[in-house]
Amino acid sequence: MPSTSERIRGFGESVIRRMTRVANAHGAINLSQGFPDFDPPAELLAAGERAMREGPHQYAITWGDAGLRRAIAEKQSRLMGIEIDPDRHVVVTCGSTEAMMAAMMTVCNPGDEVVVFSPFYENYGADAILSGAVPVFAPLVPPGFGFDRAALEAAMARRPKALILCNPSNPCGKVFDADELRFIADLAIRYDVFMIADEVYEHIVFAPHKHGYIAALPGMAERTISCSSLSKTYSITGWRLGYAIASAEVVDGMRKVHDFLTVGAAAPLQAAAVTALRFPPAYYDELAAAYAEKREIFLAGLDAAGLVYTPPQGAYYVLVDISGFIDGTDWDDARFAEWLARRVGVAAVPGSSFFREPVRHLIRFHFAKKPETLRAAGERLLRVDELWRQDRG
Ligand code: GLN
Repeated sequence: MPSTSERIRGFGESVIRRMTRVANAHGAINLSQGFPDFDPPAELLAAGERAMREGPHQYAITWGDAGLRRAIAEKQSRLMGIEIDPDRHVVVTCGSTEAMMAAMMTVCNPGDEVVVFSPFYENYGADAILSGAVPVFAPLVPPGFGFDRAALEAAMARRPKALILCNPSNPCGKVFDADELRFIADLAIRYDVFMIADEVYEHIVFAPHKHGYIAALPGMAERTISCSSLSKTYSITGWRLGYAIASAEVVDGMRKVHDFLTVGAAAPLQAAAVTALRFPPAYYDELAAAYAEKREIFLAGLDAAGLVYTPPQGAYYVLVDISGFIDGTDWDDARFAEWLARRVGVAAVPGSSFFREPVRHLIRFHFAKKPETLRAAGERLLRVDELWRQDRG
């Protein structure tokens, strides 16, 4: 038999998706792969029903339904404070996953370096491999997840092609503050580097933290590819709708990559999504308030179980420190996460799948779940110590 490509040997299976299968196999509450267990807004569902009845059922324009692009441009122009032309600056993709991949393929030549903060969302590793780019890592150091400015500058001074900024961050919940964003933007300008921003959690931020769009900083709109998604903001991860906003030149390239990769996102879902993009500002306040409540419930559960964690500033993940369990044993985070799903009935993602560095003492939970699901997870976690001692004793 002929052999498969070298390329696919460069990456393993997604640990996030694998943990969902582990959760299902053990009937665990799945706090691994981040997606909601509650319904999207009723108005959006009604728009979806209408679109299914009335169409469109054939291809949308490859780079996105005109109405949806207009709605994205209007909403994001308002929020980001930049002029976004729906006909020149927007491409609609199959989730932000495709937007990020298309961005990398559009700006990188094989061998180009791309700076990635570590910990990072695991797809970026695969994005780099598939686009031929070479990741260079800049650490965000637990437990506070600050970054060393000199280390970042050293990485940028190598004149990489792009820097990937996930803000708010999956998995560590960091929200880069105004000063950090300015510092990063200045480096991008000084060393002439593209900024690929993954901002899918832009509306999930906890006071007093505030999300700033890096594209909005002086000199950054031209060099930033702002990728985002409807998945988290409207609780429709399965609809696979995302987009990128960038300069006309970059968008032109991305549209071609996107066209040949997927032709386009689902036409009826794009039509329905216009309804969501037109929600009033109160919708986003309510979303943030609902997530603040989920965060509070889940962190209270972790506290009650005596677990140690870094409180997230944004997004819907929390990294929990399991050193107290595994230190002095031959266990690592992956084995602990499997055990936790099987014995305690709560699934998490081993932290090592997000770190470049050999970090083995963290696991990631997500809290995009109904309050009752989070309370049930908290109840189960109350027994973690006792079950661990039973099994290890
Ligand atoms: N972004 C989510 C996570 O990190 C889900 C990713 C995915 O499976 N596409 O868990």
